[in-house]
Amino acid sequence: TAREFPETTATSFVLRYMLGGRFTVGGKATYRKLNEQVDRMATALYQLGVRKGDRVAVMLPNSPHYIISFFAAMRLGAIVVNVNPTYTSRELQHQLEDSGAETIILLNLFWPRLREIRPETKVKRIVVAHVFDTLGFPSKLLVKIAQKKTPEWVDVNPEQDIFFFETLLNQYGPTPPKVNVDVDDVALFQYTGGTTGLPKAAMLTHYNLMANVQQVGAWLVSGHRGHEKMMAAIPFFHVYGMTVAMLYSVYMAAEIIIVPNPRPIDNVMTIMQKERATLFPGVPAMYIGIINHPKVAEYDLRSIKACISGSAPLPMEVQERFGEVTGGRLVEGFGMTECSPVALVNPVYGTRKAGSVGIPAPDTEAKIVNLETGEEIPLGSDEQGELCVRGPQVMKGYWQRPDETALTVDADGWLHTGDICKSDSDGYFYIVDRKKDMIIASGFKVLPRDVEEVLFMHPKVMEAVVVGVPNPARGDDTVKAFVVVKEGESPTVEEIREFCKLHLAPYKVPREIEFRTELPKTMVGKVLRRVLVDEEKAKQK
Ligand code: ATP
Ligand code: MG
Repeated sequence: TAREFPETTATSFVLRYMLGGRFTVGGKATYRKLNEQVDRMATALYQLGVRKGDRVAVMLPNSPHYIISFFAAMRLGAIVVNVNPTYTSRELQHQLEDSGAETIILLNLFWPRLREIRPETKVKRIVVAHVFDTLGFPSKLLVKIAQKKTPEWVDVNPEQDIFFFETLLNQYGPTPPKVNVDVDDVALFQYTGGTTGLPKAAMLTHYNLMANVQQVGAWLVSGHRGHEKMMAAIPFFHVYGMTVAMLYSVYMAAEIIIVPNPRPIDNVMTIMQKERATLFPGVPAMYIGIINHPKVAEYDLRSIKACISGSAPLPMEVQERFGEVTGGRLVEGFGMTECSPVALVNPVYGTRKAGSVGIPAPDTEAKIVNLETGEEIPLGSDEQGELCVRGPQVMKGYWQRPDETALTVDADGWLHTGDICKSDSDGYFYIVDRKKDMIIASGFKVLPRDVEEVLFMHPKVMEAVVVGVPNPARGDDTVKAFVVVKEGESPTVEEIREFCKLHLAPYKVPREIEFRTELPKTMVGKVLRRVLVDEEKAKQK
């Protein structure tokens, strides 16, 4: 990545900062300018003692600071450790300890959480970016207005080992040392989503990342270098936003419309309309939010050409309605942290199959193996098994977890995804569910997604998730649905159940249905089933 980068100087990228509520200020910078700032930051980090192989934690929202930090660390051959800015002190501590990071770059707003646990970590140097850094802002006046309108920000006192991002940029010249970085060196520690347990750090190499960027490119839009406008509303600190929204944009010399906070969704819609964004990678929750927005008809979102949805199943209804609203092609793909992340995807300009995650990305092999025997299931047989993938984007391994690595990547290089999958005779793959989420009800296997698809068809349902609640007395699981209804609707439990009975075998019909105003989710909008199951288990006690 570091090597490709300096060539890209042609176009500008757009920064849009949202400072509190509806107030937005922004600026533009060219790739040439960005490249210079990366060099300055790399020089600064080197002078502060950062060396090849060192871990540099980056705890920043989508911002120019994030992009500069990322490439500056890589230019020195250091390893970026992406940190989720919503982490609590305890989670942050775990990640800093686990990764062994001695350097952290963070936003001043997050400082209190680091201060608390800092003595427990190995952190030697701290670089603080400030919400009011002038970086990328066009006018001092705008910043002043922003300052007035945004009440609380945290001030950090400069100490011996605390440095300010902007000061460093001004203080050091663009003259970093030449560091030899091999393509197979680790570029990034990317922690897994933590949906099923404690996050683990996947070690992704420069080769992994560059391969995945090109794989995404081959699929999405080829031949549009310098012409695309990327709506970067998914977080860069997550592998999906990092590769698809950031690295791919840099590779394509696209304009990046940086959105630090995708909530509320009308902010995203407003910016998307104003900037005429052409690409909009997202997660299902975002597309659901847009099509159900009461004022969606008042927005002109027809500049959107293509969107990839990943990270969780995309209900077919949503895919179609989004196409109607924007005219853009929304395709679903399958990715995971361990694959940098994209492994399979529906072609944007080819046959797109609803409900399918598509076909393997270029240079990627995929197969489905029997859950018990591990034997390969012939493609197109409709039989379900575990999805395995192999390709240049597959991680080197988990950091300091050789046992987990051996369980996940086998001797032949196949990554066992832990996802249950089937394929059709055209070679398209369908994710059915996670191995870990499979429900055993009345002795039958129930896949939550089958039931969820039916709930999503109900006109009053906005969101639904289905879990298996262990029933110790019976020794199996009870199918339970959590449902969020659309605004102004108040269906009864009976009404929903009757609807399910029409479309599902009796053992799949949720025995319990609970209405919620919100579902617990990870940062990328994945429903935390384990939280719901734990709540139910706690009730049983
Ligand atoms: P952890 O591994 O820590 O439990 P996680 O698996 O959620 O967390 P990620 O690597 O961010 O962390 O997510 C990868 C997983 O997301 C895949 O294994 C798969 O279960 C799910 N996933 C990704 N894309 C899709 C999709 N299009 N449809 C269904 N599931 C998907
Ligand atoms: Mg996982």
